[in-house]
Amino acid sequence: MKLPVLYLIVPCYNEEAVLGVTSGMFLGEIDSLVSLEKISPDSRVLFVDDGSADRTWEIITDLSRKDERFIGIRQSRNRGHQNAVLAGMMEARGKADAVVSVDCDGQDDITAVGRMVDEYLSGCDIVYGVRSSRKSDTFFKRFTAERFYKLLEKMGVETVFNHADYRLVSARALDAFADFHEVNLFLRGMFPLVGFKTASVEYERKERIAGESHYPLKKMLSLAGDGITSLSVKPLRMIAVLGIVCAILSLAGLITALVFWATGANASIAAVIAAVFFVGAVQLICVGVLGEYIGKIYMEVKGRPRYIISDRTWDTPRGAENDVKKEVSGK
Ligand code: UDP
Ligand code: MG
Repeated sequence: MKLPVLYLIVPCYNEEAVLGVTSGMFLGEIDSLVSLEKISPDSRVLFVDDGSADRTWEIITDLSRKDERFIGIRQSRNRGHQNAVLAGMMEARGKADAVVSVDCDGQDDITAVGRMVDEYLSGCDIVYGVRSSRKSDTFFKRFTAERFYKLLEKMGVETVFNHADYRLVSARALDAFADFHEVNLFLRGMFPLVGFKTASVEYERKERIAGESHYPLKKMLSLAGDGITSLSVKPLRMIAVLGIVCAILSLAGLITALVFWATGANASIAAVIAAVFFVGAVQLICVGVLGEYIGKIYMEVKGRPRYIISDRTWDTPRGAENDVKKEVSGK
């Protein structure tokens, strides 16, 4: 039986502090799976430098020179984690039988890859890495993340609880996924739409080995917003419901005012002002939600590329051809 070629897709953004350590862990896992004859020796660790400003790309090119199993691509600028993972997966398409996307900071327990491969070998096309606990998170992150998953569920977005972007995808699931052309990416909500046979593998999420998270609250909120508005139209429907509720409220207010007027009582001006503000606020919220969707449509219609690769470790960098020629001609 031909052993499957596995590619680990590792997005890296300003990760010079961790790459030295975690690259060895990734290779170690590939080695052990090769020696167990679960994957082919042609398997690779594919780093995706997401436009880092530090020495990340230099480290990646150094690693690729030292060991052919390390390869890397570099995005022409920083585009965010989701796009970096996509770039890596699309690069591996046609080369790998299965890919596993994994963070480069050592937080995703790399030994879970072995169990993911077992599931793949038993016929699964997508294997989700699911966190067994959130002990390594702050209370705030744990609380907000869990609320977020519940909110997604309420909005009709199908996700796997406590799964982020640590997952194995088979070549045929990747081919199917390549037909999802959306620009606003929320991978963990998109893969369940691909279908096929799936499984989950539990793992313990650890502390970051070094460096700092690139997901501050602002980016987390933006990812959460993308998750909802890219995959659900429920907020749009909720606007209509809100409109009906407001109409009923204002009708009740009107009846009250009429009763006051009929009985000669003075309807308080404050109540009127409050009502005006209330209606104004509701309208602004509704326009805001509509704007969010229209903004998304605008971005989708433009159909801009979702990633642009500027370098590959296996390509000769521009300018270097001349050096090679010089060496050959002995000049
Ligand atoms: N990352 C990326 N581009 C970005 C931000 C992050 O490729 O713009 C990578 C980062 O190098 C890491 C992974 O995405 O491998 C997860 O990011 P991070 O560890 O900062 O997030 P957290 O684990 O705190 O959610
Ligand atoms: Mg991390």
